[in-house]
Amino acid sequence: MSRLTLDDDTGIDDGGIVSRDTASGDTVAAWEDPAGRATWAAEDWQPEPEIVAYARLGPWEAALARIGRHAQLGVRHDGGRPAWHGLGKSPGDMNRGMVGATLLAPGRLADVTAVTRQEDFTGVQVQGAQRVQQLVVPRIVEHPPGEEMEPAEARFAIGAPAAQAPAAPLDLPEELTEALLRRLRRKPVDVTRIAVGLRVAETWQLPDGFQLPLVYDVAPGKSQGYVVDESTGTAVTSLQACRNHHLAGTLAWCAHCLLPTCPACPETVRPCRLCQGATCGDCVVTEDGRCRACAALTKVGMFARAKYGVGAGGSAWHGESPNVQVTIRQQRNWWTLERWDRSGRVTIPLDPGVVQYLR
Ligand SMILES: [Zn+2]
Ligand SMILES: [Zn+2]
Ligand SMILES: [Zn+2]
Ligand SMILES: [Zn+2]
Repeated sequence: MSRLTLDDDTGIDDGGIVSRDTASGDTVAAWEDPAGRATWAAEDWQPEPEIVAYARLGPWEAALARIGRHAQLGVRHDGGRPAWHGLGKSPGDMNRGMVGATLLAPGRLADVTAVTRQEDFTGVQVQGAQRVQQLVVPRIVEHPPGEEMEPAEARFAIGAPAAQAPAAPLDLPEELTEALLRRLRRKPVDVTRIAVGLRVAETWQLPDGFQLPLVYDVAPGKSQGYVVDESTGTAVTSLQACRNHHLAGTLAWCAHCLLPTCPACPETVRPCRLCQGATCGDCVVTEDGRCRACAALTKVGMFARAKYGVGAGGSAWHGESPNVQVTIRQQRNWWTLERWDRSGRVTIPLDPGVVQYLR
């Protein structure tokens, strides 16, 4: 029988700790679930190993500890410092264990396909605003596609320190090592594939002092942060604040009140029913959807028509809001609308049905 000798009467074999007594035969303390009795066996490891089996007989204690395929037998006497014997070495699994313990949970191993380091990303910008706070944490994507990185490279990329285990020479009888490794393999090691991106939480201060939270992601292995614009579904890296302090990829300005809205605003800018000018919900003032200028259209008197470029036999209507002017002209059956605002002057032909809006 292949065993590790502890003292004259006691040894460790595949079954546990065995004590030989010539009078009464062997006493065996079989390997058991550790149930918290082997905290000593996790000391001097980084990360914490999994204690798979434990045995105690009199003053002797033994534990089978592992990180993946890196496995060791620890033995101690009378609560003293343990002596360690190597069963299998795996620098790869030590690194996988370090990555898993850092990003997932103690006792888990992880393979990594891609990493974005916290110091290697470009954030989303909010135009005209100042960032006053930023918190960056890893964002774990489980079961990603793609090639796995070398475990040592992955461990370095996530900024975890080197893994370590107590020194343990491979000095056990080969047969005992094989038997203990078989016992360990009965409890499978599970390695999770992950990719590591970032989650960024920021606070931005607008010129009026209002502070806005902004949360966005950086995809694993990429460096540019982005926000998905809800109205277009596209990834946006530069944002603007609308009048209601929403952040959006694009804003639309009302030609009347000159304040921007975003697609999330209840009063989002739309075309005026009549002049087609950009008009926010607050500046649409009639039931039928006309802007402030179109709502104010009044017929120009006979003597003022020349000023609006309408000859004899024609008619003109004019309306204004503080930043928009609209003039409608009729010459026989020919109707046009001229609109002026800060973005310029446009003339559009009108359908004669327009007469319903005029008085
Ligand atoms: Zn030894
Ligand atoms: Zn407006
Ligand atoms: Zn908005
Ligand atoms: Zn209008």
